[in-house]
Amino acid sequence: MAYEPYFTEEHEQLRKTIRKFVDKEVKPFVEEWEAAGEFPIEILKRMGDLGFLGLRYSEEVGGQGGDYFTGIVFAEELAKCGCGGFPMAISVQTDMATPPIDQFGNADQKERFLKPAIKGDKLAAIGITEPNHGSDVASIETRARKEGNEWIINGSKMFITNGTRADFVTLVTRTSDEPGYKGISLFLVDLDSPGVSVSRKLEKVGMRSSDTAELIFDNVRVPEANLLGEEGKGFSYIMWELQGERMISAAGSIGMAEYAYDLAYQYAKSRSQFKQPIANFQVIAHLLAEMKTEIEVCRELTYATAYRFAKGEVPSKEISMSKLAAAQMAHWVADRALQIFGGNGYMSEYPIQRIWRDTRLHRIGAGADEIMKEIISKQIGL
Ligand SMILES: Cc1cc2nc3c(=O)[nH]c(=O)nc-3n(C[C@H](O)[C@H](O)[C@H](O)COP(=O)(O)OP(=O)(O)OC[C@H]3O[C@@H](n4cnc5c(N)ncnc54)[C@H](O)[C@@H]3O)c2cc1C
Repeated sequence: MAYEPYFTEEHEQLRKTIRKFVDKEVKPFVEEWEAAGEFPIEILKRMGDLGFLGLRYSEEVGGQGGDYFTGIVFAEELAKCGCGGFPMAISVQTDMATPPIDQFGNADQKERFLKPAIKGDKLAAIGITEPNHGSDVASIETRARKEGNEWIINGSKMFITNGTRADFVTLVTRTSDEPGYKGISLFLVDLDSPGVSVSRKLEKVGMRSSDTAELIFDNVRVPEANLLGEEGKGFSYIMWELQGERMISAAGSIGMAEYAYDLAYQYAKSRSQFKQPIANFQVIAHLLAEMKTEIEVCRELTYATAYRFAKGEVPSKEISMSKLAAAQMAHWVADRALQIFGGNGYMSEYPIQRIWRDTRLHRIGAGADEIMKEIISKQIGL
């Protein structure tokens, strides 16, 4: 039965379709992609063909015209694929790099960047973070200077998901000498432009099926037509983008926590010690009960917040609360799940260790725990 008022029968149908795709076309290959340090680019096209990369985008730009909760279903189900890297890379495509194009871009930009991204013909990245500026977005240094009808970009971006092979990046730059958030603008930059280079592919603790790069921009010439929205409005655009990113991050955390919980539940029932399944021990049964409770608490908050977001509100306090709580919960659940697996939990051949490593990032990316707490504390008058 559909979980009203958030989900309809159509959402549940979509959930089934995505689950089938994940079971058949993702799960069996996760080990391979993790070892390779990236997913095969062909799967992007496949997902584009299935309509998964544009569930919430209008039909006008090649999307499916679905509502906000189609995106929540997608994030939750993809997160159950057995790793965090691939879903993260795809969420950069669907929920981070492209929403600003849909929201602030013109018809030409949608044609050149958004439509191919939805089709799976172009891989997208988002470039906010720099080597010296992460949480403090308003201090970024990457500079774009106008010369005739072009902009010339210099600077570097750090920890860029999909960065080693993306076709374009939605790039946050400074377009004036005004300090802070005032002189910031967004550009859509083709990554095969002369002057763009990948200085290194970064080695990570987890999220290994997603590639992460440091990008250098050395006198990169970008046509005026690639300025996204209005000059100087980039900071408000990216703060808007981050709200959606945090909602989807919360949904992904819930999906990963559910996956970890299910693994631990099955293991607790099948593993015997002292001549009985370990699930019989009260301490294990209560741990599973607590894990399930924490998942449901986060789910309710996330759905209720997403419901308001879908109706056009931007409840940034509750969005930050959802993101913070779900990220902490997912890693907490993964850690308890690994404990239930005992020594096997610490072995690479058991997938729980990967979920434990991958969920750790959720407390750092899309705004770290501390930044969520800063936002919340300000909004409760502290
Ligand atoms: C695997 C991975 C993929 C990523 N993908 C992308 C991507 O595709 N695009 C992109 O732009 N970025 C990406 N990031 C970057 C990510 O968003 C940043 O790592 C994150 O925003 C934190 O910034 P930072 O790492 O510079 O940490 P810092 O900002 O240096 O923070 C260090 C510590 O100080 C704390 N801190 C900072 N400021 C405050 C404050 N005011 N109050 C209290 N505590 C504070 C932080 O919470 C943290 O604990 C990715 C990161 C990783 C690891």
